[in-house]
Amino acid sequence: MCIFCKIINGEIPSKKVYEDDDVVAILDISQATKGHTLVLPKKHYANILEIEDDAFIKVMNTTKMLAKKISKNLNAEGVNILNNCNEAAGQTVMHFHVHILPRYKDDDLKLEFTSHELDLDTILKEINK
Ligand code: AMP
Ligand code: ZN
Repeated sequence: MCIFCKIINGEIPSKKVYEDDDVVAILDISQATKGHTLVLPKKHYANILEIEDDAFIKVMNTTKMLAKKISKNLNAEGVNILNNCNEAAGQTVMHFHVHILPRYKDDDLKLEFTSHELDLDTILKEINK
């Protein structure tokens, strides 16, 4: 069984930030920034491509609510909301989850976008074929 299902079932301890009938939020063990939180559906879905709309909406509403609460109470100056889908995107736990990463002026989190010279019209055609 997956590690997040074990956390939801209480077989593995966690620091619960929030819980309702459908959603759980826990402190990420790695704390990439102070208050780093994971929001997950109680039902197992592998990733964003697999999750049902209803469950997704519940996770995202909780993510928004907690992003506000955590940012305010930890005096964060910003917040990143992140989801990794599949190994190529850095997903390591195959149970859908959203990262809430509170940001502080001098934190050491790096999320860097490198620019590439690709033809936008070609990409659009490929997406909408
Ligand atoms: P991802 O790379 O998007 O799949 O994120 C998985 C996250 O789960 C990582 O940031 C880990 O630090 C976190 N993680 C793994 N095991 C645990 C655990 N037992 N409790 C809390 N967070 C965990
Ligand atoms: Zn699971």
